[in-house]
Amino acid sequence: MSEFTTRAGVLDAADELAGVRKQFVLEDDVVYLDGNSLGALPASVPGRVEDVVRRQWGELRIRSWDESGWWTAPERIGDRIAPLVGAAAGQIVVGDSTSVNVFKALVAAVRLVDSTGSGRDEILVDATTFPTDGYIAESAARLTGRTLRPVTPAEVPEALGDRTAAVLLNHVDYRTGRLHDLPSLTAAVHAAGAVAVWDLCHSAGALPVGLDEHGVDLAVGCTYKYLNGGPGSPAYLYVRRDLQDRFDSPLPGWNSHADPFGMRNDFEPAAGALRGRVGTPDILSMLALEAALEVWDGVSIEAVRAKSLALTDFFLECVAAYAGEGRVESVTPVPHAERGSQVALRCENAGEVMKRLIERGVVGDFRYPDVLRFGFTPLYVGFADVERAGRVLGEVLG
Ligand SMILES: *Cc1c(COP(=O)(O)O)cnc(C)c1O
Repeated sequence: MSEFTTRAGVLDAADELAGVRKQFVLEDDVVYLDGNSLGALPASVPGRVEDVVRRQWGELRIRSWDESGWWTAPERIGDRIAPLVGAAAGQIVVGDSTSVNVFKALVAAVRLVDSTGSGRDEILVDATTFPTDGYIAESAARLTGRTLRPVTPAEVPEALGDRTAAVLLNHVDYRTGRLHDLPSLTAAVHAAGAVAVWDLCHSAGALPVGLDEHGVDLAVGCTYKYLNGGPGSPAYLYVRRDLQDRFDSPLPGWNSHADPFGMRNDFEPAAGALRGRVGTPDILSMLALEAALEVWDGVSIEAVRAKSLALTDFFLECVAAYAGEGRVESVTPVPHAERGSQVALRCENAGEVMKRLIERGVVGDFRYPDVLRFGFTPLYVGFADVERAGRVLGEVLG
């Protein structure tokens, strides 16, 4: 037994979250480090989906909109996500994809600024963003008559000024795993008189976000990564309570109407976060997500963060020991304050290396052109998994 196997055993024995893994469907001989792309299946989901389909839909049919709570699912499930991102209830609705919610949030952000009458003509966007956010931001800028200015998050404070209307940022960079400083960047955006929109895709469920505490204006995120909602599970939109009356959605639908069943020709927005809804919610995926969120009962996001850092620290150590100097280079920051819940390693022939890792039961992913990405979901990844991943990587490289 190597020093690392022994340490993994000690760390697993002291892990207060170790018991959560049995709530997931995972084989013992697979190390799943791709939960930052698609979270594993919580064991309660298949039974719930079966019930939703066979009983709620098959037997209750139309009655389920009331009796099974279908109509109110977007805000109910939003309230279940809220504590994970540091939001009080009544500020999050679930529905649509992240891309669509980025659009709603960014256009609404510009409209918030418009309503104060200033001539702010720029939108800043994270130049290193996941591409969809950039595409949507470009279109939102065109539609609102603004200029889109891509800047790195580090350049944001310099770039802010009285021309800035809104800023779209990622809490954690999807490629490098870098955690950006949400409190100080939000404060800087506010000091410049602009609106801050945060994308939480790679942070929600992996670390504390503190939306209310840090005064974030608008936020979006997906639910199929660290929240394990399943393929294509609906995303969410956070609208800070004191902005809700002025939140002017660019996609007003009958679900965001104050009186949806009044079937009126004139649009009157609903009160509260409900304004972020659009059309009929995707009930099957939404209720699968609701079941998936039960794994969080009794789990604190602080405990998840502590374990996440311990896992990524241990992985970096194992990689250094097993893979040796020079074979791979971590592009994930070492300081905890700058690290999300993934480790990205730059490596020659990364596509081929990842293929061979997966053949040997270590599942991460490859991001073009040369990055091996390993996501650490503290709810189901243990320290023995980490040791094995580092050892197998060393063998594949060697
Ligand atoms: C995963 C991810 C998305 C995904 O967008 P969808 O519309 O849900 O496909 C968007 N933005 C970021 C930053 C992501 O990490």
